[in-house]
Amino acid sequence: MVLVYEAENLIDGQLALDELRAGGLQAVMKGQYLSGAMGELPAAGLITVWIAEPLHEQRALDLIAGYERDKRYEQLPAPCTSCGEMIEGNFGRCWNCSAWVDREQQPVRE
Ligand SMILES: [Zn+2]
Repeated sequence: MVLVYEAENLIDGQLALDELRAGGLQAVMKGQYLSGAMGELPAAGLITVWIAEPLHEQRALDLIAGYERDKRYEQLPAPCTSCGEMIEGNFGRCWNCSAWVDREQQPVRE
């Protein structure tokens, strides 16, 4: 088992877990039962996401990186850097040319 993500809260952990599973990795979340007493408060470091296969660690970290990027830039449309099409915030790739959308260049809407 390899630790690949420390979630901010239960929902964050579940989404990261879903991302890994969608990528074909065997993953589990730990610590979700410890966070109940803390209610809505963030439980950083308590909820963790692990993968079963150490050989998949880099793949898992790539998926997590993509997940975190999508999370930060959620809902923010950005022009494709390759063809200029506007890509909705919930897409990580251009629908037109399949280029990855580089949202790091875009301002974060608070
Ligand atoms: Zn494009």
